[in-house]
Amino acid sequence: MATGSINVSVENIFPLIKKFLYSDHEIFLRELISNATDATLKLKHLSNIGEAKVDYGNPMIEVKVDKEKRQLHIIDQGIGMTKEEVEKYINQVAFSGAEEFLEKYKDSAKDSGIIGHFGLGFYSAFMVADKVEIITKSFKDEPAAHWTCDGSPSYTIESADKQDRGTEIILHISEDESEFLEDSKISELLTKYNKFMPVPIKFGTKTETLPKPEDAKEEDPAPTQEVDNIINNPNPAWTKQPTELEDPDYKSFYRELYPMQFEEPLFNIHLNVDYPFNLTGILYFPKLGQDMNMQKDRIQLYQNQVFVTDNVEGIVPEFLTMLRGVIDSPDIPLNVSRSYLQADGAVKKISSYITRKVADKLSSLFKNNREDFEQKWNDIKIVIEYGMLSEDKFFEKADKFALYPTVDNTYLTFEELQEKIKDTQTDKDGKTVILYASNKDEQHAYIGAAKDKGYEVLLLDSPIVSHLIQKLETSKENISFVRVDADHIDNLIKKDEEKISKLSDEEKEALKTDLEQVVPKEKYTVQLEAMDSNASPFIITQPEFMRRMKEMQQTGGGGGMFGMGGLPE
Ligand code: ADP
Ligand code: MG
Repeated sequence: MATGSINVSVENIFPLIKKFLYSDHEIFLRELISNATDATLKLKHLSNIGEAKVDYGNPMIEVKVDKEKRQLHIIDQGIGMTKEEVEKYINQVAFSGAEEFLEKYKDSAKDSGIIGHFGLGFYSAFMVADKVEIITKSFKDEPAAHWTCDGSPSYTIESADKQDRGTEIILHISEDESEFLEDSKISELLTKYNKFMPVPIKFGTKTETLPKPEDAKEEDPAPTQEVDNIINNPNPAWTKQPTELEDPDYKSFYRELYPMQFEEPLFNIHLNVDYPFNLTGILYFPKLGQDMNMQKDRIQLYQNQVFVTDNVEGIVPEFLTMLRGVIDSPDIPLNVSRSYLQADGAVKKISSYITRKVADKLSSLFKNNREDFEQKWNDIKIVIEYGMLSEDKFFEKADKFALYPTVDNTYLTFEELQEKIKDTQTDKDGKTVILYASNKDEQHAYIGAAKDKGYEVLLLDSPIVSHLIQKLETSKENISFVRVDADHIDNLIKKDEEKISKLSDEEKEALKTDLEQVVPKEKYTVQLEAMDSNASPFIITQPEFMRRMKEMQQTGGGGGMFGMGGLPE
């Protein structure tokens, strides 16, 4: 038996690690399973390139709770460590064996999926344990080693008689972290962080029902057997090539990701790029309708199949945070706690790549099946309209497929709309005037009046419509939007119109005076011209700018639409 002192310049690093390194104690399990996964993948790699002459087999990682002894075990069948390697990799805090491995096998190992790189993950065990043991046997023909450390900077290391290759980590869970001895808690953590990790992870066993034998009687119970409870799917859909997957595969993966989500997604976008950054993933457009509440089923960020966070703010543009799915990229820089993302150059590139892919997918859906696209419009318009408002690049692309439904349920692109109305809806200044309603029922009289005059009326009812209109008016030339109940709808140049009223001019004047007694003159205008149509005897209008100002104050001011700060101006 030998003793030594852990090689750190700080007097006692453990209190620091415990307090500041990770905000969440629970991530220790993710870190230890990541190490076990790395150890397994390293062995796979070495055996692939012929450097390790071993029977790789079908290795798995096992997690075991011993409540009585207050111990948690993480056992792998990976590369293992010799005594010297324990001294090198474990005793030197912040020396990453993972990074060293990747450096050494640079070209061949870059796609091996190895996770670690800070050389700190192992020590997160001390956040929940007051003593940690490592019993490990290297794939090299050397005796096993047993390392013990109680959280002070001194440790012991001795030989052990472990025969089978791999590493067992034993955590002696401390008094105030007892929750990590509960099966339900461990199960919850494994599902959260390790559900899609690349090496099978066993946690206990489960009972499987077998088919009844042919000669079984009706009342005989079906036979059962105990099988390993594997908590993860080591080959999730996003790690496959898009050509390997069909629509049902995407749908069943959606269910795997969000087991509580019963609504089917509308369509998916498979992300797959390895230059200039590495990113895979599958994004889904859920049915959103008018519902803009941030749902709890959000996009999940992974690195090499290890769950990192479901807060993708900063990586995915804000308007796409309403989507669901998975993004996996080892190139997203994270701080050591991996819980907060830093926006930097690489992330900006990733963000604009995602935006472009989403725009391209929408564009191809629009081109390939317009009818289907129109049917989905109401469920996706929030995302698209919000994207047009917030990202100029997205606006440019979406301008070709964004739809503007009319009150008669036809869907026009902006170009089609302009073409359709340019001869009939021009005002004195030569601007094309786009009429729209925001509520078919409330504004039906105005809609009727406008339609009688042969105008096209759009139905724009999304909650951010006033912002979208402003954006369109500023980015396009010579157009203006006017709501059907605005006062200057009659400034439009009409080609022909004969006004036949049943009332005389005096009668009209008298009626107008009467109406103005009840309708405040400063705010509204009473117009009797509409009497000529059969739809309504008169109309009361409001200046467009007044209504808009009020609306912008309501949706634009404090808070913002998602409670994440206001909309872009
Ligand atoms: P990192 O994973 O970032 O390299 P860690 O602190 O998590 O840093 O682990 C330090 C090193 O200890 C690893 O790089 C690896 O060399 C070694 N190690 C940790 N756990 C295992 C394990 N289960 N099997 C083999 N080696 C391990
Ligand atoms: Mg690690």
